[in-house]
This record gives sequence, C-alpha cells and structure tokens, in this order.
Amino acid sequence: MSVHAERLTKTFGATRALDSVSIEVESGSLVALLGPSGSGKTTLLRVLAGLEFADPASGPILFDGEDVARLSVRERRVGFVFQHYALFKHLSVFENVAFGLRARPRRTRPPRAEIRRRVGELLERVQLQDLGERLPSQLSGGQRQRVALARALAIEPRVLLLDEPFGALDAQVRTELRRWLVRLHEDLHFTSLFVTHDQAEAMEVADRVAILEQGRVAQVGTPEEIYYAPATEFVASFLGEANRFQGAMDATHVAFGPWRMPIPEDAPRGAGPVRVYLRPQDVEVERPEASSPASTPARIVRLHAAGPAVRLELALSDGTPLWVEISQRRQAALALREGARVGVHPRAWRTYR
Ligand code: ADP
Ligand code: MG
Repeated sequence: MSVHAERLTKTFGATRALDSVSIEVESGSLVALLGPSGSGKTTLLRVLAGLEFADPASGPILFDGEDVARLSVRERRVGFVFQHYALFKHLSVFENVAFGLRARPRRTRPPRAEIRRRVGELLERVQLQDLGERLPSQLSGGQRQRVALARALAIEPRVLLLDEPFGALDAQVRTELRRWLVRLHEDLHFTSLFVTHDQAEAMEVADRVAILEQGRVAQVGTPEEIYYAPATEFVASFLGEANRFQGAMDATHVAFGPWRMPIPEDAPRGAGPVRVYLRPQDVEVERPEASSPASTPARIVRLHAAGPAVRLELALSDGTPLWVEISQRRQAALALREGARVGVHPRAWRTYR
C-alpha cells in the first residue's frame, strides 16, 4: 500500500502545525519522520491516520491512489503505535492483541478459532508466545511495546504509523527493538511511517528520511543523501555535529578558519560570504612531520578513546576549537596523545549562504 499525501495544512488557532506538507511513502517501505519537537511530526501522523482532519484547502491523502481524506480511522485501516500507547491494563496480552479483531462489526469479525490462530501467530512474531496470559503490568517496557505493535498489526493495517514508539525505553532495549522492527518489516512488507526525534534511529531503520522544520518538509532522501548532502543549513545543523565557520568564497576557493580550499567541481559557486559546515569525521589528521601542504597545525586538547571512534578536541593556532573524529585503526597508526601537535585539513565540507 503506497501513501501519497499532498499539500497538507493543519492550523490550530494561530499555530500552523503543518504548512503544505507533501509526502510519499512507497509500498512496503519505511519512511522516518525526523524533526525537532513541535515541527509537526505527530500532527502529520494523526492527519494520515484520520485522528485529525487537515484544513479544507489541503490536497488528497491517497492510499494506493484512493483518496481517504474523508474516511474515518477505522475505514482507513491504519495501525498505530505511540510512545505511551497504553495497553488495556485489565486485559491479558492475548486479549490486548485480539481486541481490534473482536471489536469489529459481526459481519467482518473473524470466527473465534481464527482470532485465536491469528493472535497466536502475532505473539510468535513479536516473540511473546509464552506470555499471552500475563497482564501488561507483568511485562518489561520493551515487551509492552511489542504487544502494542502486535495489537496494531492484528487488524492487518494497510499502513502502520509509529510515533516515537521506543521513545520511553532505555538505549539498549531501544536498539534491540528497532533492529527487530526492521526485520519484521522486511518479513511482512507493511508500509510504515516512523516518527522519531533520534537521528541515529531514523538513519538506521529507514529507507528514506523526511526532515520536518516548522510544519514544512525541509528535505526527503535516503539516509545517505540526508547526511552527506543536507539540502539546507537547517538540515545540516540538525543532523549530526558539525564545526561551523564563517567563510568567504571567491571564484575558485573557499576560505574558512585557517584554510583556503579549492571548490569542488560539483559544488555551488559564487563569490561572497558563506557559512561552512565541517563534520568531525571529515577532518584529516596527520602527524606534524607527515603533514600535507593543505594542513595547518593544531594541538590536541582532549582525546576520548573509549567508544567505536576516537574523538579529539583540537585547538587551531588561533585557539579556535575543532572537533574531530577518527577511527580506532587510524588512532592505532598515529598514536596520538593529549598535548601533542598534529596537522589537520578538511576532506569535505558544505557551504550555505
Ligand atoms: P511534534 O510531534 O513534531 O513535536 P506536533 O505535531 O505535536 O509536533 O505539534 C506541532 C505544533 O502544533 C506545535 O506547535 C504544537 O504546539 C501544535 N499543536 C499540536 N496539536 C495541537 C492541538 N491539539 N492544539 C493546539 N496546538 C497543537
Ligand atoms: Mg510528537
């Protein structure tokens, strides 16, 4: 089931929560919606689900080409899981998952045995087959969210909407659950829109990422496109860390910090002031004696070696701080220490006006 919404606007009094948002989710894909708090992520999901109606001037909401904008939640057959989507406390895990099926009008309600079979299958899917008789209070946070997901899937939704489903869980459970969600997604081929404010999570789970900024879509693309080619300064500063410089561009070079770098062939040109974003991973670090001509001297103020990468806080000659990240392997080759001198130059950077 593909989802294609056009020009969705939603105002609450004076607040424009959505400002002409268009979004496309290919059938079977998982799109992550990422953006700061208040950027309209939840509102977009609620409008797609039918929990909220967009302003009248908005465009259609197409599910496989059919406009569902005027249909009710139930008619849209959308499953959702929210961060605090409370389970029914007094119902067992099994009954929670069965709820959506039992609540159907008799005409479309599956027979008891069929409900039993389907719920059993779903509990197996979410690896809770042995916990069907438990009450939600007897489960861990991660298990509860898996029940919520099984319950959402029970109605065989055409589209699954997830609003920060793992937001309240601790980091490790969160990582496990999102890997598991990706596998489930690959197995069952549902179409999902996944809201998160955690960029690492978005980058890891999504086929495509849409970045919202104040009710507008700032950029849509694959995680790689979004990370390596942020379309706007907002996206660049929202995603990951960057060292920022005020720079100046002439016909052939851009000068920022201590460097004057040739502008790459494919980069936008035009003389004038620019803001330059330099990611910590995009800085080349060399031993001073081995420095290339582009390098300038820096001193290592702090070195954090614990973790998958080594993080360096450097000071350039004029004292400007520079954050750099290098691999453990590179650190093994360079054997850097706090206080030592190094040569540094940017490998890649982006400019915005
Ligand atoms: P996000 O999920 O990205 O944090 P929301 O979609 O919840 O953002 O909110 C977007 C904007 O709309 C915010 O300014 C929020 O205060 C406002 N908003 C959301 N829902 C309502 C509502 N029911 N009434 C009034 N304002 C709302
Ligand atoms: Mg929200």
